[in-house]
Amino acid sequence: MEELKGTVFNIQKFSITDGVGIRTLVFMKGCPLRCLWCSNPESQKSGVEIMYVKTNCIGCGYCASACPQGAVDAVAFDIDRDRCIACGDCTKRCYANAKKIVGKQYTIHDLMEKVNKDRIFYQNSGGGVTVGGGEPLLQAAFVAEFLRECQRVNIHTAIETCGYCNWQSAEPVFTHTDQIFYDLKLFDSKRHKTFTGAGNELILENAVKVSRLGKETVFRVPLIKGINDDEQNLEATAAFVNDRAKDNPLVTLEILPYHSYGRDKYKWLNREYPLEGKGSLTAEELKEKTQFLKNNGVHIVSDNESHDVV
Ligand code: SF4
Ligand code: SF4
Repeated sequence: MEELKGTVFNIQKFSITDGVGIRTLVFMKGCPLRCLWCSNPESQKSGVEIMYVKTNCIGCGYCASACPQGAVDAVAFDIDRDRCIACGDCTKRCYANAKKIVGKQYTIHDLMEKVNKDRIFYQNSGGGVTVGGGEPLLQAAFVAEFLRECQRVNIHTAIETCGYCNWQSAEPVFTHTDQIFYDLKLFDSKRHKTFTGAGNELILENAVKVSRLGKETVFRVPLIKGINDDEQNLEATAAFVNDRAKDNPLVTLEILPYHSYGRDKYKWLNREYPLEGKGSLTAEELKEKTQFLKNNGVHIVSDNESHDVV
C-alpha cells in the first residue's frame, strides 16, 4: 500500500496560540472555501505554488534562466502563472529568497520527527500539536493518522477547521483530537456563499455533530466589519452556540478580530487583496460586539487564550 503523505505549507514552532501551552502549529495546504478575509492565501490551493517577494529581488536574473517553461519575465522577473508548473527550479537558484516554494509533502514519520523535537516543551507547558490550514479535513486520512500517532505518544492534539467536509471522512480526525477550534462565519447561507464561496448548511450540520462529541470545542467567529458583525448575525451566533453548550458544557466561543496581515501575500501570488481598506473594527466596536454576545448569554473565551475561560 502506498505510504500516506500530506501537503503542509508551514510549520510554526513555539506558538502560544491555538490551544493550551506551547504548541507546534502544522498548516495543511488546500481549502474548499475562499473567504474574502483569508490571511493565508497561500493555503487555499491544494498544490505547490511559488511566491515572488519582489522587494527581496536583487535582479540577478537566475530565476529566468533556470525556468524550463519560460515562465519568468526576463526584466521584471514576474511569474506567468499560466505557464508555471511549480517545479521549483527558480526557487533553487534564487539566493535572495525572493522566489519561494509554498507546500511540501510529508510522511507521517517525517512530520512526527519534526514535532517530537519539541516534546519537552509540550510536557512542561501542557501543550502539543495543532493542525490547521488551509483546511485540515481536506486531507483527512493523513491528518487522522498523524493525530492518532501524536496521541499514541501522549502529545495533546487540536485542530482548526471550517467544518465544510464530509462527516464520514472527518470523524476519524475528531476521534483523535483533544480540542477542536471550529469556525462559524455567517448564519445567512446566501451571504455565507457570497463571502466564502459555499453555503453554510453542511458546516452547521457538522458543528452540531462535533459539539456532541463531548470534547473541548471552541467555536470561532472571525469578526469582519460590514460582513458578519450585524446584530442579526451575532444573535444567531449566540443562539447557536448556547444550544450547543446545552449538549456539551465544554463549548465556548472565541472572537477573532479581522486583521490585514496577509495582504502582502496576495501580491506575492499575483492576486488582488479582496478586502482592501475594509473589514477592520475599532477597539471600541470590538468591545461592543463582544459585550453584545455576552449579553446574549454566550460563554466567551479571550482571544488566543482559549484555555483560559473568562
Ligand atoms: S516553479 Fe518552475 S515553472 Fe514555475 S516559474 Fe519557477 S522554474 Fe518556472
Ligand atoms: S533569482 Fe531571485 S533575486 Fe534573482 S532575479 Fe530571480 S527573483 Fe530576483
